[in-house]
Amino acid sequence: MTTLQDCQALDAQDPLRALRDLFALPAGTIYLDGNSLGVMPRATPERVADVVTREWGTDLIQSWNKAGWFAMPQAVGDKIARLIGAGAGEVVATDSTSINLFKVLSAAIAIAKADAPQRTRIVSERSNFPTDLYIAEALCKQHGLELVLVEPEEIAAALTANVAILMLTHVNYRTGAMHDMAAVTAAAHAQGILTVWDLAHSAGAVPVDLRGAKADFAVGCGYKYLNGGPGAPAFVWVNPQHADRFWQPLAGWWGHAAPFAFTPDYQPAPGITRYQCGTQPMISLAALDCGVDTLLAAEALGGMAALRAKSLVLTDLFIRLVEERCAGHGLGLATPREHAQRGSQVCLTRAEGAYAIVQALIARGVVGDFRAGDGGRHQDILRFGFTPLYIGFEDVWHSVEHLRQVLETAEWQRPEFNRKHAVT
Ligand SMILES: *Cc1c(COP(=O)(O)O)cnc(C)c1O
Repeated sequence: MTTLQDCQALDAQDPLRALRDLFALPAGTIYLDGNSLGVMPRATPERVADVVTREWGTDLIQSWNKAGWFAMPQAVGDKIARLIGAGAGEVVATDSTSINLFKVLSAAIAIAKADAPQRTRIVSERSNFPTDLYIAEALCKQHGLELVLVEPEEIAAALTANVAILMLTHVNYRTGAMHDMAAVTAAAHAQGILTVWDLAHSAGAVPVDLRGAKADFAVGCGYKYLNGGPGAPAFVWVNPQHADRFWQPLAGWWGHAAPFAFTPDYQPAPGITRYQCGTQPMISLAALDCGVDTLLAAEALGGMAALRAKSLVLTDLFIRLVEERCAGHGLGLATPREHAQRGSQVCLTRAEGAYAIVQALIARGVVGDFRAGDGGRHQDILRFGFTPLYIGFEDVWHSVEHLRQVLETAEWQRPEFNRKHAVT
């Protein structure tokens, strides 16, 4: 049996332990929801205050040049590139994940229409994050294409000669299951199919190698594992081989080759810059920059590989402790046990009370979240994200101990834990 002392020993040996001090973790909270909204870095309030009071308040319009505002999307994009196996100048931090997906999916459709007009399908996973499916559905309507949704084990068989694009989220938001990006991309390319990857639950959570995998397009989220703050700009990457082929449809002036020439016609900038649309939120970009810096601080300690190693020990430990200490309470495991198939979260299932159990845990200071099932293949889920930058092994012990008590005392059945909030 694993003990609290074992967990404390793991913390004592953890080479990444000091990174926790980069974060303003609220006292008395074990935060297992960094996959939904990352914790605020300690550096962020001062940086944001400086952007507001000095860069905006004093320097005003000069800050577009003087403070480097205009180049911020590229500067932050270059930092994110280091986390996802992309090159410098290949990523911009801009807009939201949904909007960036609209842009890259539109560009992928334009390429497919030019190169293989007989291909009329976009394939995705039925349990993909809904906004991804909604954006794909809207574009399919606009372009007369068909959106085909399959289960993960059906993807290989769905890659047929009439498919233009395979659009997947690398790590599934609901189960934490991770695709083999290189293998899936190779299988798609072997059939002449372009790939669009959503890295919302991957960037800053697991090693990603977009160039190595020869992926075509990718988007990702700034406010989850990148710790950029609520509504932080997202990011977009396009394989340089595709970047200059087509406009993206939101052809605003920030994507123009010479925005300050103010010409009446649109000339797209070369490379990823054309994936910008309009003026970007500098206060939010500064906060995102601070968030990305917390991940780059791990580079001297082994970077994403070291973070990944710790994440797997954390999630293995959580699974083992739940199975040892919460046995007999009807919990199931929705997350794959195999390391190669697991992101940085663990999802538990329970036929009854999943929402209320999560609420009871939050009341005890253990913050995870709930994702509703679909009444069919997918059960209700208690979701726990493990951000290796700031979660320790003792945190895992205490979170499982709280879960055990919530189940054993039936605390979750109290009425206040069974009232649903707007945001779950
Ligand atoms: C979180 C998440 C998003 C969020 O999209 P927004 O445009 O930021 O609201 C999109 N896709 C996936 C897979 C996500 O996990």
